[in-house]
Amino acid sequence: MHDNLNEKCAVVGIFGQEEASKLAYFSLHALQHRGQEAAGISSADGRKLHTIKKRGLVMRVFNEEKLRTLSGSAAIGHTRYSTAGDDSILDAQPVFARYDLGEMAIVHNGNLTNAQEVRNALIKKGAIFQTFMDTENLIHLIAKSEKDKLLDRIIDAVERIEGAFSLVILSRTKMFAMRDRHGFRPLSLGKLPNGGYIVASETCAFDLVGAEFIRDVEPGELLIFSQGKEPKSIKVFEPTPKHCIFEYVYFARPDSSVFGQSVYKARKDMGKELARLAPVEADVVIPVPDGGVPAAIGYAQESGIPYEMGIMRNHYIGRTFIEPTQEMRDLKVQMKLSPMTEIIKGKRVIVIDDSIVRGTTSKRIVRMLKEAGANEVHMRVSSPPTTDPCYYGVDTPDKDKLIAANMSNEEICEYIEADSLAYLDEASLLRSVNAQGDEYCTACFTGKYIV
Ligand code: AMP
Repeated sequence: MHDNLNEKCAVVGIFGQEEASKLAYFSLHALQHRGQEAAGISSADGRKLHTIKKRGLVMRVFNEEKLRTLSGSAAIGHTRYSTAGDDSILDAQPVFARYDLGEMAIVHNGNLTNAQEVRNALIKKGAIFQTFMDTENLIHLIAKSEKDKLLDRIIDAVERIEGAFSLVILSRTKMFAMRDRHGFRPLSLGKLPNGGYIVASETCAFDLVGAEFIRDVEPGELLIFSQGKEPKSIKVFEPTPKHCIFEYVYFARPDSSVFGQSVYKARKDMGKELARLAPVEADVVIPVPDGGVPAAIGYAQESGIPYEMGIMRNHYIGRTFIEPTQEMRDLKVQMKLSPMTEIIKGKRVIVIDDSIVRGTTSKRIVRMLKEAGANEVHMRVSSPPTTDPCYYGVDTPDKDKLIAANMSNEEICEYIEADSLAYLDEASLLRSVNAQGDEYCTACFTGKYIV
């Protein structure tokens, strides 16, 4: 499992801006939803790199004083998401190294699918690893490359790795940003108000620092940022897009635009599609907050059934997935969500969530709504059944824990004790995200893996 630790994370890079680490900090704050376990920033002042990383939320890890020590006009940052109980600080990013060309730091979002193979080959040749992160492979590949320039060494290294990577690499004077040939994970380029540049996993980071969206980093593209120059683009791989559709379903923030489209609109359209695909007579449509909100609005608008906030969310508790044991997860759902009795009592309720993974949340929610006096509870899910684990960086449990991989819809409906259950289908999901061809990876719903 350890090579899987580099789960859905956020990366950011700031270049050509005084106090770059401050902007990296604000950007990471906007990207906190992509990972709450650890946060880190490396800055470059032209002579030296400075790094601070620690377990905890961005606001906890950094303060004014710490940011002051991260001096320089370039910085990269990372928030880490992981489910496994490995609390080693070594597994936080940026990954920093000194090597024959100087110093470098790397942040990475995505999973490398040949990580173990590459690591074994490196170890055989005498490499010593300090962490379980696949990102450390890159450090070794870059350091061991025979090429003279960092740029060429990066190209050498990425040619040896497979899978999903949105990377930002910092040297003492330059910054590099790169996406794998499929563009699994998002990475966008923006311009800062003073003329510097920003790259970030999601555009919600741009809004917070006043940056203007320029474009996405293309799949297979490497961008090089050097002082006083426009970013230079190199096409390292022929692009064959396979964007992660789960970014739209659950992971990205609704105010972001990823893969060229508004996440909010995509989610709302999923709700509209769901209302057409699986209508049911009811008095009220309610979301499971926060993930189900845009889809529930779409469902309500399309069906004409009133939308209400039927469940309150306590914001002072993290995502339920983070707890490793099943018992803790049950408790956390209760701590996190509570019913609004005056909305629910005596009503036929349609409740919308973005996905069912293990079934824990839905089961709790249906029971909670029934206990609050709902006459009927109809569960609607704005994505298809999650049947297969993700190897490209979204944290899904093993197949045997995925309820839809092991039960039919009728069985799941019975298990969660709902009056009815319906999911979105793949075709409707693809329509909601404006798919033009096969540019999306839907492996978590179909088992069709690319790499
Ligand atoms: P479960 O209780 O296992 O069925 O999980 C479903 C809930 O977890 C839904 O409310 C989703 O919004 C949320 N969810 C789905 N995928 C993930 C993920 N990869 N990480 C964290 N939460 C998720």
